[in-house]
Amino acid sequence: MSSLPEPITSLVAALNRLPGIGPRSAERIALHLVQSESADVKQLADAILRARERIGFCAACGALTEKSPCGVCDDPRRDASLICVVEQPVDILSIEKSGTFQGKYHVLGGKISPLDGIEPEDLRIAELEKRLSTEPVREIVIALGTDVEGDATGFYLAKRLSRPNLKITRIAHGLPAGTGLEFADELTLSRALEGRREMK
Ligand SMILES: [Zn+2]
Repeated sequence: MSSLPEPITSLVAALNRLPGIGPRSAERIALHLVQSESADVKQLADAILRARERIGFCAACGALTEKSPCGVCDDPRRDASLICVVEQPVDILSIEKSGTFQGKYHVLGGKISPLDGIEPEDLRIAELEKRLSTEPVREIVIALGTDVEGDATGFYLAKRLSRPNLKITRIAHGLPAGTGLEFADELTLSRALEGRREMK
């Protein structure tokens, strides 16, 4: 590695910071890129920049979107009385793929994890409370990962969001233990949603 020229080692370091790319993959990708056609590399760089510039968060639900409010929030056919609370924007894609959910979403942006310094106020919980007072919400479906933090966050939300005429449910277990929604297949996810249970 020490024999690689500096621009390559910088590129390796930058790639290595991406999720799911370890040092060996980073090195392979970097070496591939520096030997590729200039035009191809430029196209890739442009695509990254363009996506980064055009994508932002939906002000209402927190989904990744080109326009805010996003397509789901803006769709009058979606059931506004139902909000599914997820951890990350990618979870919305997983649930949409399962095709069973007709309500709207709310992205928390993580889960409560004191060990990692993530407290309730670091998540989009206040935004969710605001939606409860401005939107005709009758049910909150909590669809967080099945690990300890996911469980703790679910119980915290059920307590904090509790109010008259609001049902708080949680997707059925059946998701692989200790994982997030993104690893569940579509059938498991749609069953988990259909089998959701009230939390109190
Ligand atoms: Zn939205």
